[in-house]
Amino acid sequence: MTTIIDNIQLDYSDVLIQPKRTTLNSRKEADIIRTYKFKYYKNTLNSTGITVANMATTGTFEMAKAMTELNGITCLQKHYTVDEIISFLKSNKNNELVFISTGIKDDEFAKTCQILDTGLVDKVCVDIANGYIPNLAKFVKKLREKYDNNILIMAGNVVTSDMTQELILNGADLVKVGIGPGSACITRKITGVGRPQLSAVMECADAAHGMNGMICADGGCTCPGDIVKAYAGGADFVMLGGMLAGSKEAAGEVIKRDDKELKLFYGMSSQYAQNKHWGKMNSYRASEGRVVEIPYTGPVAVKIEEVYGGIRSAMTYIGARRLKDIPKCATFYKVNRQLNEVFAK
Ligand code: 5GP
Repeated sequence: MTTIIDNIQLDYSDVLIQPKRTTLNSRKEADIIRTYKFKYYKNTLNSTGITVANMATTGTFEMAKAMTELNGITCLQKHYTVDEIISFLKSNKNNELVFISTGIKDDEFAKTCQILDTGLVDKVCVDIANGYIPNLAKFVKKLREKYDNNILIMAGNVVTSDMTQELILNGADLVKVGIGPGSACITRKITGVGRPQLSAVMECADAAHGMNGMICADGGCTCPGDIVKAYAGGADFVMLGGMLAGSKEAAGEVIKRDDKELKLFYGMSSQYAQNKHWGKMNSYRASEGRVVEIPYTGPVAVKIEEVYGGIRSAMTYIGARRLKDIPKCATFYKVNRQLNEVFAK
């Protein structure tokens, strides 16, 4: 008989964080830069953990430059050529917070090695929509064996503890969590598969931390509060696509229409992306992404400062002095309604 998991599965919008007695008098006292230590990768990393998605629209060179200044991470999109990536990495002063991205095909392995062998970058995001495919773990293993503890590997996407642990055991330092929560994603609609993001993050973080691994909560954040909830649920890193896709540094020109300034944003599994980046969409695939025009929001620094302000304020509300302390200090209320939107529209 088919099993039903009866525990309620939660999204960010299903909870609020309880305020608590605190020792912080000002949000200035909240330290949002964490020094990360990894299971395999030998170096530490200093960052706020905010990570730009490796979508073609957001994972741009311009974004990487701007985010480095803001102590945030960028996963470059994978459709740049090897030459383009190498010349960017050579020109960029600091590649500490930059990941290159790859799929799991043989030619992608070769391309990844070609870039890693330059020594200009040592962080890789191995990203496929369905992280349950056995070839993902195999790819991660091969990469780990070749480069030992000299590279940082992020791999995903999954939403359950079993595959989180499988990827870590095969060499991932960091597992990317999220199936279907993304703003440009229609996977849940097309396949019926997915898991509410907060529950996925909580379970996978617990599984990863138990074996010295970490997770990156990927997708579903619509506002700074959602990012805080991801950290509170145990995420070590939080990946953003849609929230940053209207930025100046995101790909594409500003579209002017009826006094509005817009940017085009599309899911990487959308028909639009398949045609643009692969030249075609295979007949056995259905589109699992949206194409939308979203408001232009100016330099990414504006959005990121708002995010950092929100994180600092939340830390002050719950008494978390360091980013890493957020989950220890956080308690969630399960709620029926989190926002009063009477004037929102
Ligand atoms: P957002 O921050 O916009 O809510 O989510 C960003 C994440 O959505 C990305 O990092 C990626 O994991 C996911 N994503 C991007 N494009 C697509 C797509 O076309 N289909 C699906 N299912 N997910 C996508």
